Amino acid sequence: MILLFLGPPGSGKGTQAKLMVKKLKAEYFESGDILREKAQEKNALGQEIDQIIHQEGKYVPDEMMKKIVSGWLTENKLEQGIIFDGFPRTLEQYRDLQKILTEKGKEIEKVVYLKVSKQESVRRLSARRICPQCDLEFNLITKPPKKDELCDQCQRKLVQRKDDSPEIIKKRLETYYQLTKPLVEFVRQEGILEEVDGERPIKVIHQEIVNRLGL
Ligand SMILES: [Zn+2]
Repeated sequence: MILLFLGPPGSGKGTQAKLMVKKLKAEYFESGDILREKAQEKNALGQEIDQIIHQEGKYVPDEMMKKIVSGWLTENKLEQGIIFDGFPRTLEQYRDLQKILTEKGKEIEKVVYLKVSKQESVRRLSARRICPQCDLEFNLITKPPKKDELCDQCQRKLVQRKDDSPEIIKKRLETYYQLTKPLVEFVRQEGILEEVDGERPIKVIHQEIVNRLGL
């Protein structure tokens, strides 16, 4: 089964996508990880990606993403299915991906959208903390440290990333909705959208997705 997971920052989309990867024993296309991996390769494409994501902090252009996905689809065994996470995030990228998959006799069968209110996204993202010493990540709501706001490993005081300040969180959410709304509307009309309430416990959400997909 080929699935796409969508949801605003803080929706728990990554957590749910990973649970589904495990359940289906599917391949996992997580765009952030794949790009970071590619950026380390010592070739022209790797250097270009490194420049874009690490030095300029921008998004990789659609044409380049197409090449990366095509390559990835050729390199991986896909019999057990694929879970896409973080890509495609716009309607244009979605169309590109469907074209590539069609050439391989495949298609995205369902799009799972994790719905959380803007308020809840802000609340969850504002609760993220990181250890300045060992980079361990915590969330005061969903993954709290054992003691106060101290790192479980080295007991240092946890800090907030600059990216998680309220103004930047709001901007990230706005960008997300702007880019992704046309894609969500498109797949809704195609009849392959499964909207799931993301403001519930992880296991409950996972079970609902499993049921909705008839697994
Ligand atoms: Zn630490």
